[in-house]
Amino acid sequence: MRNIVIVGAGMAGLHTAAALRERGFEGRITLIGEEPHRPYSRPPLSKEALTGVGLDPGPLAGNRALRLLDDAEIDALDLDFRPGTRAIGLDTASRTVKLDDGDAPYDGLVVATGARARRPDTGLAGVHVLRTLEDAEAVRAAIAEHGRLVVVGAGFVGAEVAASARTLGAEVTLVEAAPTPLTRVVDPRLGPVLTDLHRENGVDVRLGVGVAAYEGSGRVERVRLADGEAVETPLVVAGIGVHLNTEWLQGALDLMPDGSVRCDEYSAASAPDVYAVGDLANWPHPRYGGRIRLEHWTNAGEQAAAAAHNLLAAPEERRPFTPVPYFWSDQYKMKIQLLGQGAPADEVAIVHGSVQDRKFVAFLGRGGMLTGIMGLRSTPRTMRHRGLLERPTTWEDALAAV
Ligand SMILES: Cc1cc2nc3c(=O)[nH]c(=O)nc-3n(C[C@H](O)[C@H](O)[C@H](O)COP(=O)(O)OP(=O)(O)OC[C@H]3O[C@@H](n4cnc5c(N)ncnc54)[C@H](O)[C@@H]3O)c2cc1C
Repeated sequence: MRNIVIVGAGMAGLHTAAALRERGFEGRITLIGEEPHRPYSRPPLSKEALTGVGLDPGPLAGNRALRLLDDAEIDALDLDFRPGTRAIGLDTASRTVKLDDGDAPYDGLVVATGARARRPDTGLAGVHVLRTLEDAEAVRAAIAEHGRLVVVGAGFVGAEVAASARTLGAEVTLVEAAPTPLTRVVDPRLGPVLTDLHRENGVDVRLGVGVAAYEGSGRVERVRLADGEAVETPLVVAGIGVHLNTEWLQGALDLMPDGSVRCDEYSAASAPDVYAVGDLANWPHPRYGGRIRLEHWTNAGEQAAAAAHNLLAAPEERRPFTPVPYFWSDQYKMKIQLLGQGAPADEVAIVHGSVQDRKFVAFLGRGGMLTGIMGLRSTPRTMRHRGLLERPTTWEDALAAV
């Protein structure tokens, strides 16, 4: 294999390139990215980029707090990096990626085009999403200008925007259709602690109610909730999920109903020498009883390393990708961490600390097995138990190990 093309210059794409070089690949690596920037890190966009804490003054582009690798480290990878270039199709028979400015032939291909934010269809100014550096610049400026916002969706992006905006002293209403924040990753029995966290910090939290309409003439003036109430606001930030950037792969690779790329246990997609990594990859994980897909930063890096190994390895040396999923979120200077799967769970046990103290480690179980570990303000204690999720561990054995 002499010529590897990576499409998508985010966390997963860049780390695939780095992992290929670490494994001694000396051939050509072409990294194609639609954005005009060098690869950057998205987690700070809802944290440091909004609060300004730990940020260099000036624009976000090139800011050290957002870097995935130093410029020198990227240069050392010796990439044919093509920023501002979009992949528009894939021909697996001729092994060619169709670009908006030509073709890129490959021996091996890694698909890492991630996701874009779902945008409410309002046609109104003042309604923002948060996925890119430009989004973060716009949200930061709008919070400074208006000092008042409605955040729609209390997933990790929405919850962090609410927390960052409160840190800046803005007036915040947080609207979530589910009964607790972070419902996709945090069991509803632990969710209330997060609700309380927002309320104690002065956020007006509205749970169990969706948005019926965004109202205003030309720009947003109010958000109409499903229960009929209107919340006046000059600014909305919507954190309502993502669309996966896989339209360009349609007809070329097997896609799942949600648009994710159907992979095998090695992160290989349905065409020879094509792998998929990061937010858009969907693969079978033996410890979670089926297929999984993770929108987690750490996974993007770990899967990139696994795919790089498998792409270069002889068939008998390939390794299945069976990570312990890991996710964190920072809100009000508190770190929330989740190892494994946090929801759904049928058993929850606090094994260190207490919910009242906002400092605890909880075990989560399903079908008699330990499936997840959640920590709040307890990093060493949470990570210490990671080994229990690296192999199948019964609920009893997990509790006995504490
Ligand atoms: C605001 C925010 C906060 C977050 N906070 C956390 C956190 O605290 N903890 C955590 O674990 N995770 C967090 N995440 C999630 C994490 O950032 C993602 O899981 C990670 O960025 C996924 O990396 P990726 O490379 O798969 O995809 P992406 O980061 O989406 O990168 C894909 C790249 O591909 C490009 N692309 C798309 N289509 C094309 C095309 N056709 N041609 C060429 N290029 C294309 C895109 O422009 C993009 O640059 C956060 C995400 C956001 C948005």
